[in-house]
Amino acid sequence: VEAELMRAQRLESLSLLAAGLSHDLRNILQPLLIMPDLLKARTDDPQLRHLADVIAECGRRGHEMAESMLSFVRGSRTPSEPIRMAMLFEAVALLLRSNLPPEVELELEVADPDLTVHANYTELQQVLLNLALNAIQAMPDGGKLTLLAQADSDAQGLSWLRIAVSDQGTGMSQEVLSNLFNPFFTTKPNGTGLGLMSCKRIIEGAQGRIQVQSAPGEGTRFDLLLPAYEVPADAPVAEAPVAPGSGQ
Ligand code: ADP
Repeated sequence: VEAELMRAQRLESLSLLAAGLSHDLRNILQPLLIMPDLLKARTDDPQLRHLADVIAECGRRGHEMAESMLSFVRGSRTPSEPIRMAMLFEAVALLLRSNLPPEVELELEVADPDLTVHANYTELQQVLLNLALNAIQAMPDGGKLTLLAQADSDAQGLSWLRIAVSDQGTGMSQEVLSNLFNPFFTTKPNGTGLGLMSCKRIIEGAQGRIQVQSAPGEGTRFDLLLPAYEVPADAPVAEAPVAPGSGQ
């Protein structure tokens, strides 16, 4: 599980890097798109005009490459599907139990077995694993890790699916809390500081929200709020769009 998460986090930082690079590249190449024309307007020398054309062509190709790299990194919308929460929790629990420290107790609470969310299975699973592994690491002396799912609605009358991951671990100081979602922020000797950033990106990408409550010595609770999904009466919900643990 850890290895798979590390891989996902490395990919995440790679795509951050690619996004930054292509953005900079696009700006750097900008003059190459305009200046060759300015040059050509100032000279009738065929050789200089030809050089200007070659430069313009390189600029155009470079720009196109930066553009497609950028749209690859931020584009590629991940497909969503209806996911039964009870099934997702079982899949996550299966992965967690394989290396759960004996002093940590795992509890699953799904209010309604038909509770369903519309999301990308692999991504949502990654979010839950990230949060759960953080929770386990925060409980070196053991405690209870709880995954909860329930229907919810807010003051505006909007319906949400609430998923909560809570632990009885060390909790967090104000300082940690205010940096939590920043890339590369970590308090662990071998941490990447990319887990929570990637959770936030995934949840917000699914039009959801992520909230955290924590205090030193009092444990931590992360709440994910995702738009409620009504299962169409005539559409059976797929059991497992991606086999759990298939490495997808
Ligand atoms: P990493 O786990 O690699 O450090 P994350 O982005 O997942 O990266 O977490 C950032 C930091 O947030 C952690 O280093 C830790 O200090 C804090 N943190 C996250 N989850 C918890 C938790 N459940 N309990 C206490 N601290 C946490």
